[in-house]
Amino acid sequence: MRLTVLAGPTAVGKGTVAAEVRRRYPEVWFSVSATTRAPRPGEIDGVHYFFVSDADFDAMVERGEMLEWAVVHGRAKYGTPRGPVEAALANGRLALLEIDLQGARQVRASMPQAHFVFLAPPSWEDLVERLVGRGTETAEERDRRLATARVELAAADEFDTTIVNDDVERAAEDLVSLMRSSPNGNEP
Ligand code: 5GP
Repeated sequence: MRLTVLAGPTAVGKGTVAAEVRRRYPEVWFSVSATTRAPRPGEIDGVHYFFVSDADFDAMVERGEMLEWAVVHGRAKYGTPRGPVEAALANGRLALLEIDLQGARQVRASMPQAHFVFLAPPSWEDLVERLVGRGTETAEERDRRLATARVELAAADEFDTTIVNDDVERAAEDLVSLMRSSPNGNEP
């Protein structure tokens, strides 16, 4: 078992750290999630996500094919297909899931022996800056995001390890050395 789950509050920069790991550590296997949201420009089906319809997503859930799934930001469904994760682990790969907090909690319920890593901002002010920095939201939307961020930050206690994202390269290095550090994976 060498499964690592990376989660953290909205806007902490999980995607950026994950992209850095992808670029520098090709030995790390990334789960490709299924999502019902539309692809953004440059996103490739089967690489960044499996872009599926709502009905297809629900069918996968019903067939028990999702290791976890959640509605993220109240908009689209996102889920981790179970089969590829199990195959990667069976092959002894260092496997990484970059998912939201609700998903991380589900994985913990079904795979408690996985390693749960929380990506934290250097400070509350830093997170506020990232969340509202662009200033494109309404005051109401901003307050809603900040309230969510406060609750999400409090979830750090539920995780095995916290990595502070004050420097993307260092955060990626720390994550991969954690993943490598236990020769037998994440067995207690
Ligand atoms: P985006 O739409 O920007 O690619 O991703 C939005 C959010 O969805 C991110 O916080 C990301 O961690 C989360 N996410 C991506 N894939 C999954 C998944 O398979 N399961 C869960 N629970 N969250 C996911």
